Amino acid sequence: MPPEHHDVLNPATGELVRQVPATPPAEVDAAVTRAAAAQRRWAATAPADRARLLRRFAAVVDDHVEELARLEVQEAGHPIGNARWEAGNVRDLLEYAAGGVERLTGRQIPVAGGLDVTFLEPLGVVGVIAPWNFPLPIAAWGSAPALAAGNAVLLKPAETTPLTALRLAELALAAGLPEHLFQVLPGAGDVTGNALVEHPGIAKIVFTGSTRVGKAIMAKCADDVKRVTLELGGKSPNVVFADADLEAAVAATPMSFLDNSGQDCCARTRILVQRSVHDRFLELLAPAIASVVVGDPADEATAMGPLISRAQLDRVRSYVPDGLPGIRGTAPEGPGFWYPPTVLTGIAPDAPAAREEVFGPVAVVLPFDDEADAIRLANDTPYGLSGSLWTRDVGRAIRVSRAVRAGNLSVNSHSSVRYSTPFGGYRQSGLGRELGPDALTAFTETKNVFFSTED
Ligand code: NAD
Repeated sequence: MPPEHHDVLNPATGELVRQVPATPPAEVDAAVTRAAAAQRRWAATAPADRARLLRRFAAVVDDHVEELARLEVQEAGHPIGNARWEAGNVRDLLEYAAGGVERLTGRQIPVAGGLDVTFLEPLGVVGVIAPWNFPLPIAAWGSAPALAAGNAVLLKPAETTPLTALRLAELALAAGLPEHLFQVLPGAGDVTGNALVEHPGIAKIVFTGSTRVGKAIMAKCADDVKRVTLELGGKSPNVVFADADLEAAVAATPMSFLDNSGQDCCARTRILVQRSVHDRFLELLAPAIASVVVGDPADEATAMGPLISRAQLDRVRSYVPDGLPGIRGTAPEGPGFWYPPTVLTGIAPDAPAAREEVFGPVAVVLPFDDEADAIRLANDTPYGLSGSLWTRDVGRAIRVSRAVRAGNLSVNSHSSVRYSTPFGGYRQSGLGRELGPDALTAFTETKNVFFSTED
């Protein structure tokens, strides 16, 4: 029997926050039927009115940023400063997507004998399956552009973090979005999530999570050629050349893999350092790691909170056998799911911690000899989501950023996600892109119509 509810625990204390009922498959089916009816009405609503409602949704989210952020702290353990940014990201994305409603234009293509026009038509009902690592933003990355393009959305949050998603659905109704257009269906992945994936009334699945589950979902979507976007794992490089501003590169390194306690698909967990500056880099990095404030996520000064769950803590521990050389920060003792910032040095490039996505505050440092070696190492992974390079040589920055096979790179910075720029992975990091100028188009079908002008 699948569970009838899920316990939402505070990761900083291990205490129960709330129990949330799970959605059984029969209820998923009913939700799809209601969503399909709502979607037909929504698609027929004037674009300016749809845009206005989404802007109103953004305004209501803005009024509740602090409340949503506090919920995110409670259920996901994110530091309050990060959680406020995340709630603000939902607002910004809703506003950005609202701006696209009236700009979702097709084309007029010159042909003989008539008029040829393309239409970008909504897909129908979209299923968004979200993970626990960024429950608020990732819920919005799929949902906001899908709604803006005229679709209905059924959102399944992760078992551990359904609270912000449920609140978002209430705020959507308060803003005046039509009933059943945006529904949140909490529940287990292999029950509620699977019911969405298998449902013939769902036109597209947007999945963010593990590569293992993403592959299985893609295979199931093939049954009825369902559209699919996958945002999966990563093992992203942070490439530091000897000609870089070493102090700046070191200063930026800790939070490039410790943000969200390393539970970030873009975490730069493979620090590749040119051999001539390798020892100096480590010397400077040790105090930088030690100074990261790890503790109560509700405290404004906290930079890093706990891991999401006991299971995630056990998983992270399994990658770091006792006695591995490295740099270690500190973490609270006692209840909650705490793990200290950890940088492993002198590790073999084929060790599991150097190859697999740990999804915790653990990075490895690997030396390289020259530019070709750096590119080879950076690409020596089945993933291809993000990466950074640090160099003062503009030509090198261009050459290396073109050569690294990843969807999101930054030079002399670790930034990677903006609502206005495309986001997604090469190879096993995913399929398709979210966010950016084309976000709405990913939730449409292109229809070409030829109108004959013959008498
Ligand atoms: P997961 O892939 O199991 O879960 C992600 C989402 O998919 C959740 O909402 C879950 O309920 C749902 N899901 C699970 N099985 C499903 C199924 N069969 N059908 C439909 N939906 C399903 O991830 P996890 O177990 O929570 O985390 C395990 C590992 O995955 C992590 O340690 C990390 O390496 C990786 N991960 C990556 C990301 C990312 O952003 N790329 C996010 C979360 C987890």
